[in-house]
Amino acid sequence: MAECHKCGAPAVTYLRHAGRHLCGEHFIELTEKRVQKAIRRQADLSGGGTIAMACSGGKDSMTCLDILRQTLEPRRDSRIVVITVDEGIAGYRDSSIPIARDYCEEHGLEWVLTSIEEEQGATMDAVAALGLAETPCAFCGVWRRWSMNRAAREAGARYLATGLNLDDTAQSVLMNVCRGDVERLARFGPHTREQPGLVPRIQPLRYLPEVESYLYAHLRGLPIHNAECPHATRAQRGRYRKVIHDLQEDEPGVAHALVGSLDRLRPALEATFPAADLSSCPECGESVPREGVCKACALRIVVKGARTERGAGR
Ligand code: SF4
Repeated sequence: MAECHKCGAPAVTYLRHAGRHLCGEHFIELTEKRVQKAIRRQADLSGGGTIAMACSGGKDSMTCLDILRQTLEPRRDSRIVVITVDEGIAGYRDSSIPIARDYCEEHGLEWVLTSIEEEQGATMDAVAALGLAETPCAFCGVWRRWSMNRAAREAGARYLATGLNLDDTAQSVLMNVCRGDVERLARFGPHTREQPGLVPRIQPLRYLPEVESYLYAHLRGLPIHNAECPHATRAQRGRYRKVIHDLQEDEPGVAHALVGSLDRLRPALEATFPAADLSSCPECGESVPREGVCKACALRIVVKGARTERGAGR
């Protein structure tokens, strides 16, 4: 059996990208150190304040929340508000919500639950059942960001942390490069620019591979919801996940290289695509980078129209 590179105890994992075997204790220690460093690099913690954490109860958001809590707990000037979005996906989200809620209760954290159905007029199950040309994820992603931003702003948060891991981020980079959507890369978090009405997003796990996020949650005994969304099969992202996975079989550093490349290009991207002057959406009042309704409202109107056409009412 392989031994931990630090203490010689039986190893629980081999980090291919770092070329090290580690035991459980040293894996946890290294993961916390890396994520805490990312938090400090991405967020200005001086002067304290509120950090909102988007938490679904899945492995990534639970890992991120657990390390964020450990980082801020000793500080009396800081507060965490946990936000869970209920997308209205029966048999899926209703199983994960209690995990986030119970963790917050156990650790005395404030917890806010928002509902896509209340905010946008339809559950994701209802949207998926319409069989529209766009995937359910195209609606869900936009509405979730809308909901999280609003809840974080109302909580007075300086930052909104999400559990996006290395694999998610690498897939997004590749997907947008393949689509030629370079401008979107300039808008990726972690955000360094502050814009009125928009809470800057930070992503403390963006260099943590998915498998390590899972292992951390498992070794720490964190309760996690580990199921796949029933609407995920139509997600285009799955194809990019497979491409990166296949590439990594031979070259384990591919995902790190994709995210690292984005970070190195970021100053040039931000100079080429400066932040737009924001206006207010006439429907919901949220900040929007151009005149007219925001994307969340545009999608809500599409769904409302399709439901009316099909005689489903609202
Ligand atoms: Fe929403 Fe798609 Fe994720 Fe399901 S897979 S929760 S529909 S973004």
